[in-house]
Amino acid sequence: MKKLNVLLVEDDPSLLALTSALLRPHFSVLQASNVAEARAVLASKPVDIALLDLGLPDEDGLVLARSMRAKSAHPPIIFVSSRDSASDKINGLDIGGDDYLTKPFDPDELLSRINAVLRRTNAHASAPRRETRVRLGEVEIDLDTRQVWNERLETTPFTRAEFDVLMAIVNANGRVLSRAVLLDAVALSPDHDAGERTIDALVAKIRKKLSNGQDGPKIISTVHGVGYRLGLVRS
Ligand code: CA
Repeated sequence: MKKLNVLLVEDDPSLLALTSALLRPHFSVLQASNVAEARAVLASKPVDIALLDLGLPDEDGLVLARSMRAKSAHPPIIFVSSRDSASDKINGLDIGGDDYLTKPFDPDELLSRINAVLRRTNAHASAPRRETRVRLGEVEIDLDTRQVWNERLETTPFTRAEFDVLMAIVNANGRVLSRAVLLDAVALSPDHDAGERTIDALVAKIRKKLSNGQDGPKIISTVHGVGYRLGLVRS
């Protein structure tokens, strides 16, 4: 089974090394030693859970958490900090943190808190658990958070209609979808004057966003006279 990605944000080099060593047998660890690095990781890699220190050299961990939550309820966040005042804990949890652990922590305690948060947030997301991440060549799509990483590992913002079309094609898994079927899949307002040309325009935009126009046609292939299908095998 693929290891989940843990983003570990910690500016103390020895604690960063120690915690990474503790997590590595169970998780794939993405390290950051300040908020700027953490943002770069979040923009380029799928993160399953984030462990955030509060006192960081460039910005406060709470600021990072707030901006993460402004975008999505995912990934879950555990604050790991030596600040143990009640107000820090309350602030952290108010912002949308899932748990708060005070330094120094017991290694087993950290692992059990991570597992508890992952269980809770997964159970919350959907039961039964379904596949939420799809990889197509170099492109990765998170169906839950509606995020797409292109082949240069940048997140690309999709409009709702673009993402709906992409998701319909991905879910059809190689079956050809007509423009009419895709039009039904797009949640356009009823008075929207959308025709089949709308789908062609959306597909063109999706292809461009997926790969700067280079491999887009490979991911969504045109079936002349019929419609579109997924051109790459999902993994
Ligand atoms: Ca610190």
